[in-house]
Amino acid sequence: MDTAAHDTPHRTRHRRICPLCEACCGLEVAIDRSAAAPRVVGIRGHAEDVFSRGYLCPKGYALKDLHEDPDRLRQPLVRRDGVLQPATWDEAFAEIERRLVPLIEQHGRDAVALAIGNPAAHKMSLGLYFPRLARALGSRNIFSASTLDQMPKQLASGWMFGHWLSIAVPDIDRCDFLLMLGANPMASNGSLWTVTDFRGRAKALRQRGGRLVVIDPRRTETAAIADAHHAIRPGTDVFLLAGMVHTLFDEGLVGPGRLAEWTVGIDAVREAVAPFAPEAVAERCGVPAATLRSLARELAATERACVYGRIGTCTQAFGTLASWLIDVLNVLTGHLDAPGGAMFPKAAAFAANTAGKPGIGRGIVTGRHASRVSGAPEVFGELPMTVLAEEIETPGAGQVRALITVATNPVLSAPGGPRLSRALDGLDFMVSLDIYLNETSRHADVVLPGLSPLEESHYDVAFPQLSHHNHARYTPAVLPRDAGRPAEWENLLRLAAIVQGRGVGVDLQALDDELLAQDVGRLAGAQAPAVLAALAATGRRGPERLLDLALRTGPWGDGFGRQPNGLTLERVAAAEGGIDLGPLQPRIPELLRTPSGRIELAPPACLADMARARAALHERAPALVVVGRRDVRSNNSWMHNLPTLAKGPERCTLLVHPTDAARLGLVAGAPARLRPAGSLGDEPGREVVAPVVLSEDMLPGVVCLPHGWGHDQPGARLALAAERPGANLNALLDEAWRDPLSGNAVLSGMPVEVHPLSTAAGAG
Ligand code: SF4
Repeated sequence: MDTAAHDTPHRTRHRRICPLCEACCGLEVAIDRSAAAPRVVGIRGHAEDVFSRGYLCPKGYALKDLHEDPDRLRQPLVRRDGVLQPATWDEAFAEIERRLVPLIEQHGRDAVALAIGNPAAHKMSLGLYFPRLARALGSRNIFSASTLDQMPKQLASGWMFGHWLSIAVPDIDRCDFLLMLGANPMASNGSLWTVTDFRGRAKALRQRGGRLVVIDPRRTETAAIADAHHAIRPGTDVFLLAGMVHTLFDEGLVGPGRLAEWTVGIDAVREAVAPFAPEAVAERCGVPAATLRSLARELAATERACVYGRIGTCTQAFGTLASWLIDVLNVLTGHLDAPGGAMFPKAAAFAANTAGKPGIGRGIVTGRHASRVSGAPEVFGELPMTVLAEEIETPGAGQVRALITVATNPVLSAPGGPRLSRALDGLDFMVSLDIYLNETSRHADVVLPGLSPLEESHYDVAFPQLSHHNHARYTPAVLPRDAGRPAEWENLLRLAAIVQGRGVGVDLQALDDELLAQDVGRLAGAQAPAVLAALAATGRRGPERLLDLALRTGPWGDGFGRQPNGLTLERVAAAEGGIDLGPLQPRIPELLRTPSGRIELAPPACLADMARARAALHERAPALVVVGRRDVRSNNSWMHNLPTLAKGPERCTLLVHPTDAARLGLVAGAPARLRPAGSLGDEPGREVVAPVVLSEDMLPGVVCLPHGWGHDQPGARLALAAERPGANLNALLDEAWRDPLSGNAVLSGMPVEVHPLSTAAGAG
């Protein structure tokens, strides 16, 4: 680690927002320029960063590994005679045009699917230009990682508050009681909640007398630092939450405070939770009724309190209901939109909940179309990632015959990976934009390499909409990209031109100008010419120009002269460490974009789905189920090739409670064989093997395996990851098991059988 505090002729320091997780820490990257090729010689937290104040986790330093990774692709690949071979950029795009255009002409636009993964959320270039590609293509077959882990929260928030990204986050620095379900920020550093140094903030909460309570089937790293942990059966959060809401009504604890005026549907909620008294749900969720009542009372009695739920509450059969009930609790106890509670950030750019008429809107709609084979409804313009394989496999009108993937690896990160892998081989054509030849992109006919994050400028498009503190930060590229390498937005725009039939040789700058003019026309109406002239005067193009437009027309912007002290990109970029926009402030009613102009506390679809929950209330728990887990040195599938993160003990291990291990004949350190319970386990590739770790932290009847592993696929180019490939949890999971409202995959609570590797059959 370089510790020089100042630049020297051969050593320079640069700011960079960390792209490795949702905490988005500000980093300081030291570059040695004494040799012909500049070299990263240090990475540390940027002390002046207004958001992260110098914090970084062990993953941050891996940015150097990522930049230097010899397996990171630096040249396009084109499949010739069945083998991916290096090619020029012109050759790669020519091949895409040659194969894709006739396919669209013959089979229509829905024959081409798009899939995008969550690393794209950390790349301004991809985040801003993927929608341009999607619009140009006009296919119904759009897929993203959102339907693997977060769509329930987006859907519930959209119904209640009017927009998909109006998601309330814990105001942790002022909170005195934080109830957390299915979340492990000690490992994840926050999810749908951009918060740095969770450990420090949780410690501060407890030091001021506050309480952190965690509900999870495992005593997680977060549970270990909490005041209390309650182990819950996987997939039963809906019952626990409904029981808590029931308690509020039952014990006269409902007190929405100032939100009463802005909320409709309270009586409907009371009716919906009537069958879910704590005493009726306790056995199903494994948490005593007295505990549920006590949690509800504590939530209601604490002035500054918040309920937060994350991955575990989304990745289950009742994901939308659980996500909805979390905010029902926050509203009914007066903790939504209140300091110390669950609050709404006011992002400086790109936030739909700061645009248009404040306080009212069209709300959201779903189901504008449905997937062809399973009939899964469209949600937020997407279909569930888990229907992609069947849409490729199933012949007929609208069959997916080509796929463009952008920074995604669903073969490892989505349920049913082995089936999807086989389906990809059946495509007529596939293009991948990726930094690696991974388990998914290895199937492509053309691979377009992405840039190292150090070669790109950055502004977080999505995460300020989820941040616990308002801010605006922009970091320029640390290093220039190699000569001849296009920017990633240029690649997406060229693909957009190809699928629109405008030709591979399109003038990208002219096309970018054209699309910008359309955006500005919609946004500024009669003022459009003046706005375009002002943007042109900056000399910025591409994503920077879109960012400048968004900042200047955003809630803190200069309004192109109307607010002379407001934000522009020039001002944000000039601020060392970014611009601090202060703690979160109450935003209701201004934030709301529902048709009623109120918080819709009882979305009709949620009320209707409560009948399904009621029917499941008395189901018997399976003998053994599997859940996932997060490790601080990992993030889905794409960081296992980085030496800083790959070193140390084996991480892809199966946690088993000792009583289960004794029952199943499992031995610590020995390999165990996992397969789905039932007939799904007979499908090829569904079985995985992982070493056993005995853990008293597990709830008996639940085993735990992290996801994103399984780097033993032929044709992938991830040498370090392949040395310890791990087991692919998603191979076990049933791609047909979804939350019906959001289409989100069910990742938690899949019934499994586990045997010692040496035994052919055993108990389950
Ligand atoms: S917590 Fe770690 S990985 Fe996440 S943004 Fe900060 S330094 Fe990067």
